Amino acid sequence: MVSMETLTIKTENKFRSLVTRQAYTKGQIICEIPTEKLSSKPNRYTVQIDQDKHTEVGKLSALNHSCDPNVILDTEHLQMVARRDIEKGEELSFFYPATEWEMDAPFICLCGASNCIHVVAGARFLPLSTLENHYLNKHIREMMIDLLNKTELHLTRLLEQAEK
Ligand SMILES: [Zn+2]
Repeated sequence: MVSMETLTIKTENKFRSLVTRQAYTKGQIICEIPTEKLSSKPNRYTVQIDQDKHTEVGKLSALNHSCDPNVILDTEHLQMVARRDIEKGEELSFFYPATEWEMDAPFICLCGASNCIHVVAGARFLPLSTLENHYLNKHIREMMIDLLNKTELHLTRLLEQAEK
């Protein structure tokens, strides 16, 4: 069931994409996410799987970003899951900020979706009103909470200074 044999990397003008030779139904597990080489820093080929863990993901590094993606990378269970029904021959894509907090190589998205975020740089640069419409991995939710907790810390410091 969970193998990457049905996935092919397509290269056109040096632009890579990942295409499926098999159809999937919504919710179906497509493959496991390989954790080939772990690193504490992101690069173009890594996927963030925890707060300070990035991994090279083999073939899945050819997955492009979309603001209306057809797959989800569940980094907690290390599975790629169909977000909707997917046809044979379709390109697979996921929402990069669902795994990436702060990307090494931000870019402008031209996906054309009505909900396009335009600047893809990681979850920390997106408003909550955008993020709430997407599946976000546990480490991204945790980092968002950490960030919000720091705003409370700012207030505490301000109040402490005022008391002095
Ligand atoms: Zn977009």
